[in-house]
Amino acid sequence: MEPLDRSTHWPYERGEVGAFFYQRYGNPTVAAAEAELGALDGGTALLFPSGAGATTALVLTLLQPGDTIALAEGSYFGTGKTFEALGRWGLRVVEFDQTGPPPENVDLIWLEAPSNPFLTIPDLEAAAAHPARVVVDATAATPVHLRPLEHGADFVLHSATKFLAGHGDALLGVVVCRDPTAAEELLSFRTRTGIVAAPDPAWLLLRGLKTLELRVRRQTETARILAKRLGDHWAVATVRYPGFGGLLSFDVDDAEKARQVETSTRVIVNATSLGGVTSLIESRARWEGDRVPPGLLRLSVGLEDPDVLWADLENALA
Ligand code: PLP
Repeated sequence: MEPLDRSTHWPYERGEVGAFFYQRYGNPTVAAAEAELGALDGGTALLFPSGAGATTALVLTLLQPGDTIALAEGSYFGTGKTFEALGRWGLRVVEFDQTGPPPENVDLIWLEAPSNPFLTIPDLEAAAAHPARVVVDATAATPVHLRPLEHGADFVLHSATKFLAGHGDALLGVVVCRDPTAAEELLSFRTRTGIVAAPDPAWLLLRGLKTLELRVRRQTETARILAKRLGDHWAVATVRYPGFGGLLSFDVDDAEKARQVETSTRVIVNATSLGGVTSLIESRARWEGDRVPPGLLRLSVGLEDPDVLWADLENALA
C-alpha cells in the first residue's frame, strides 16, 4: 500500500520549495489517489472533501454571476440543493430531460449517468454538440462502465464516497478534467478556498480502488438478477435499472408499503448512501418529497450473495 502521510508541511530542500510543502497545496497521499483516478477516467483528477464540495468548487471555478446551468431533471436532489444555495451569488438553473438535447443559451450542462434515483441515461452526443461545457456526474456508473471524457464530456464528477471508495467509511469527491488548463484553474481555486481532501480518506480511497472493478462487476451481476426478479414480482409496479451498475430503484403501491418494505429487510440495511459493500435500501420520498413517486425505493446492491438478497427482498415485500 501507498504510505499514509498526514504531514501538514514538508521541509524545504536546501532552501527551495519542493513538490510538497504545505498540505492545502497538495500532499502525497491525495496526489497518489488523484493519479489513479485520472488514469481511470482518462484525464487530470482533483480530489475534494465530498461530492458536494467537488460540485461547488467546479461551478464556482467555471461560472460567473448570472450564468445558467442546464441540470438533468431527476438527478441527485442534493446537486439541485447545492445550486440553490449558490443562487444568492447569481447562479441560475434550468432543468431539462437529459435523454434529449440540452436547452440553448446555457453556460454549463450538468448530466448524471445514470441519474439517481431515476436511472435515466444522458444523451452524451447531443450534449457534446452543444457549445457549453459538459459535466457528467458518473457516480453511479463508475469508470468501470462509463468514461464520459471519451464521449465528449469536459469534466467527470464522482461522489467518491460511493463506489470508488466503496466501503462506507470515506467521504470524498473527485473532478476529472479533460483539459489540463481547466484542471490548473480548478486546482488554483481549490488551493485558495481550501476545499481540499484530507490524507486519511484519500488513503481509504486508494485501498478501495484496488477492488473497484471486482466490486462493480459483482454488484452489476447481482443487480441484474434482482432487477429481473423484482420486475416479475406482483407487489412491484416499476423497476428502473439501466442494465449496468449496482444502483436500481423500484416502486411499490404507496408510501405505507414502502415504509413496510424498507423496515422489514434483515440483510439489506435501511440507510441512505449507495455504492458500498453492504446493500442499502431506502424510500426516497423522505428526502425528495413529491419529486419522486411515494412508493419509490432505492436499492444499492452490495457484495452479499444474490440469493440471500432476493430472499430478504421477497420476505420484505410479502
Ligand atoms: N452525486 C451523486 C450522484 C450522489 O449520489 C451524491 C450523494 O449521494 C453526490 C453527488 C454528493 O456526494 P457527497 O455525498 O459525497 O457529497
